[in-house]
Amino acid sequence: MSENEESCDVAVLGAGFAGLAAAVAIADACKAGAKPCKVVVLEARERVGGRVYTTTLADGTWVDLGGQWLGAGQERLAHWLARYRIATYPTWTKGDNVLLWQGQRTRYRGTIPKLPLTALLGVAWAQLRLDRMAKQVPLEAPWQARKAAEWDAQSFGSWLANNVGSEQARQLLSIGMETVFAEHANNYSLLHALFYIHSGKNTDTLLGSEGGAQETRVRGGMQRLAEAMAQGLDVRLERPVRRVQWSADGAVVHCDGLTVKAARVILTLPPPLCSEVAFEPPLPPSRQALHQGMPMGAAGKCVAIYDEPFWRKAGLSGMCVSDEGPCHVTFDSSPPEGKPGVLLGFVEADGARELGKQTESERQKSVLACFAKYFGDQALTPRIYVDKLWEHDPWARGCYGAFCPPGLLLAHGPALRQPTGPLHFAGTETATVWSGYIDGALSSGERAAREVLGHLSPRPSG
Ligand SMILES: Cc1cc2nc3c(=O)[nH]c(=O)nc-3n(C[C@H](O)[C@H](O)[C@H](O)COP(=O)(O)OP(=O)(O)OC[C@H]3O[C@@H](n4cnc5c(N)ncnc54)[C@H](O)[C@@H]3O)c2cc1C
Repeated sequence: MSENEESCDVAVLGAGFAGLAAAVAIADACKAGAKPCKVVVLEARERVGGRVYTTTLADGTWVDLGGQWLGAGQERLAHWLARYRIATYPTWTKGDNVLLWQGQRTRYRGTIPKLPLTALLGVAWAQLRLDRMAKQVPLEAPWQARKAAEWDAQSFGSWLANNVGSEQARQLLSIGMETVFAEHANNYSLLHALFYIHSGKNTDTLLGSEGGAQETRVRGGMQRLAEAMAQGLDVRLERPVRRVQWSADGAVVHCDGLTVKAARVILTLPPPLCSEVAFEPPLPPSRQALHQGMPMGAAGKCVAIYDEPFWRKAGLSGMCVSDEGPCHVTFDSSPPEGKPGVLLGFVEADGARELGKQTESERQKSVLACFAKYFGDQALTPRIYVDKLWEHDPWARGCYGAFCPPGLLLAHGPALRQPTGPLHFAGTETATVWSGYIDGALSSGERAAREVLGHLSPRPSG
């Protein structure tokens, strides 16, 4: 074996949360059973964490430019944070929220903005129906829902158009759902939407802060957890995987500058990136169809740092919902100490794609102008502005997750978690609970680890 060739029991492709959870779980099980076992994690980037990315700015402020929230009921993420004793703090929600709607700026408390009653009733009714339909979608097999064929034949957008009479209700739901799916509702199927809603409990949980998916932050940033998990693992950074040769006996993984022979392989790359790896022999058609047919949503985070969260003094929470852009939704993303003030705006779907066409200074100008409309002119002069548009990230190609256009889930869904020879599939898109979220990534990695452990024969020790 040459210097650039190695062998191991398990090669894990990708050091995001799915890959890290898989590698730690296998290492734990081998240690507990006193079975020596070599796990190598191959990662394209120069860092671990994948779609979670915490960066420290020039003034020392840390910001999460990727996944940041731990939500109510996310048991796997809570478990892993507890294991590494990583502290959390509540998302700042005190004060009035802002609604900028049809040119009018109003303040409101809680989750219900001040809109005409017909619009509010329309939203409540639609959420009730969606939650009821979502419960009928089996999380392990959405394609087995009684109405799977009917629901997968239409887009979520067409369901909204045909079932929500009030235009304002439709618009508000579309904005809310874009913050959840990072994609226009016309592009993913109703079945995918219902599965996703059930997977994260219900629409209120997905949309909410207190009691919802946006409830809690990690002190120092979510990437701390990825770094803690990577400690003690054999992670090879800057090793993009290009080719995987596989047979019943194992696989050979070819990365830049390194070839790794493994008995089992766990793939955790986002589906569109799997389609760029050459598999020899080719993967089964349904698996390929998933890789080629599940595009990523588009979202970006736009962050402005101020000396203090000035909006709090005005009795505002920093949360805004607006039908104007580029950021339709904002949050107070300040650290637990309350200083500096960090305002976070999301751009999503076509809005993110449009912003991505602008230069950095154009983006800064339009985002700050948007923040000023919501919170006043003080928003125009942050000490630092930074953004990240994930569509432009070569190792993610978008976010928050990949989605299923009409027809895909029904035709090819059963291949999502189906191992192929020595190849096992993980990643948040394969999760049954909290699919699309960090929690789902972690549980998918743990599930793939269990699959692999069932196949590993112990290495001779010594
Ligand atoms: C802006 C943004 C906000 C989000 N907000 C939240 C949130 O608040 N809460 C939440 O729970 N979730 C959130 N998410 C989603 C969450 O971050 C993801 O669901 C989760 O991190 C996905 O983990 P993963 O391991 O499945 O995939 P990834 O994190 O994408 O990991 C896959 C890894 O594979 C690597 N890779 C890709 N191609 C190759 C290759 N050829 N060779 C080797 N390595 C490769 C990638 O670099 C990456 O490290 C957000 C995501 C984004 C981007």
